[in-house]
Amino acid sequence: MNYKSTRNNDVSITSAQAIAQGLSPEGGLFVPESLPKIDGDFVKALCEKSYADRAFDIFKLFLTDFTDEEIHYCVNNAYADNFDTENIAEISHLLQGTYVLELWHGPTCAFKDMALQILPYLLTTSAKKTIPDKDIAILVATSGDTGKAALEGFKDVEGTTITVFYPEDGVSDMQKRQMATQEGNNVFVCAVKGNFDDCQNGVKAIFTDKEIIEQLDSANIVLSSANSINWGRLSPQIVYYISAYAELVKNGEIEYGEKINIVVPTGNFGNILAAYYAKEMGLPVNKLICASNANNILTDFINTGVYDRNRPFYTTVSPSMDILISSNLERLLYHLSGENTQLINKWFTSLKTEGRYEVTDDVKAKIQELFCAGCCNDRETKAAIKDCFDSYSYLMDTHTAVAYKVYNDYKKATGDNTKTLIASTANPYKFGAAVFDALKGDAAGLDEFAIIEKLEEMTGTTIPQPLAATENKAVRFKGVIDRSEMPKAVLDFLKK
Ligand SMILES: *Cc1c(COP(=O)(O)O)cnc(C)c1O
Repeated sequence: MNYKSTRNNDVSITSAQAIAQGLSPEGGLFVPESLPKIDGDFVKALCEKSYADRAFDIFKLFLTDFTDEEIHYCVNNAYADNFDTENIAEISHLLQGTYVLELWHGPTCAFKDMALQILPYLLTTSAKKTIPDKDIAILVATSGDTGKAALEGFKDVEGTTITVFYPEDGVSDMQKRQMATQEGNNVFVCAVKGNFDDCQNGVKAIFTDKEIIEQLDSANIVLSSANSINWGRLSPQIVYYISAYAELVKNGEIEYGEKINIVVPTGNFGNILAAYYAKEMGLPVNKLICASNANNILTDFINTGVYDRNRPFYTTVSPSMDILISSNLERLLYHLSGENTQLINKWFTSLKTEGRYEVTDDVKAKIQELFCAGCCNDRETKAAIKDCFDSYSYLMDTHTAVAYKVYNDYKKATGDNTKTLIASTANPYKFGAAVFDALKGDAAGLDEFAIIEKLEEMTGTTIPQPLAATENKAVRFKGVIDRSEMPKAVLDFLKK
């Protein structure tokens, strides 16, 4: 199976090329030229398999230029004892017919691990096939979760290095600690004076700096990124939706063929797009419910067909969803417009120049057939955490709480009783201060660790080991630099 670009239908490349390149030269995203289909036999066969073996069966449909051996190498290294549960993703029951898919059992306690634990293997395998003899230097600008997950994924992976820049005052104390104590011999972390945009613009400038690229090329190094538009990050996310469905069948919660709703707390539209792909492949899914925080650009888009980023940006208690440009939406629009690259080019040029676009009535109707959307503010998010804990003794993080609240609103408004899977994207301790506050804990005078210890006492839950461990780990990376110093920092690190 080959891959096309959302902005140019003449592009046709292998999956290894798509993963190694990341982005198509004209700015489009890579998409499979057709979606493989799965049926009842396929899903039933998954029931008795491990997560890694389920991933193997699904990747085999997409990575047709990889050998079985290569796919086994990737999935067996990615989904092993680096997760704190043998199942890799766990399903918790909230109440009859409502399930929480916990995607945060990996080393950094956020769902980014589901993709970033396998991306290094997919990327190095792809690079071997397409650009042999080169080392890959990953550059990441992060507002928190991605940076840490990418560091854990790439640490000590042969043939790679990873550099992460984060805004000095733009990440939580826990996130900063997680990154500053990162282990591994091929990693470099640095804080930048400024906000996330400064970091991101600094990284983008390095990617297009001819002089740097030439210097690195002569050292046999190519730059690459680990952000969520790479097909190597999106495809692993399809796996857990199909796997979760198989698990529900296996446990007798649903019969094969029974449709379920899927609710996803959404930012860049990657996670929910993976659920859409699973549905289009044949997984029995009813509605895809897109949940946003106060940055509700997707709620408005799904309800009106107008995407308009000319609006205030809010900093919320669910920071990983504080996004006004949902890059992966481009893939959905490509498929729903009948692969109309002309329309895609028009819309995304308009987004760049005017900050808005409006899709056709036909595309809007298709979106509304597939998706429902809702949003909530911080007060409602915190109330949802408390309500869920009081009602079901289940502690959720701020992002998952947005999904929980939006789902409850949906259920009230529609009366839809279809069994429902809520994607849970972070362990509650990762956003411990906000969760503690939601439960009316008094944090006065307490630091991050004291707060999560109190939270543990208060709820009878357990601080995950990787977060607890950061308290006593040595801080390796203390550097804080100006944006203008980023290129030099990268070169100094890579030329060592
Ligand atoms: C990244 C992230 C999200 C948003 O996921 P998208 O794929 O960007 O929509 C939600 N919750 C958490 C905890 C995240 O880290």
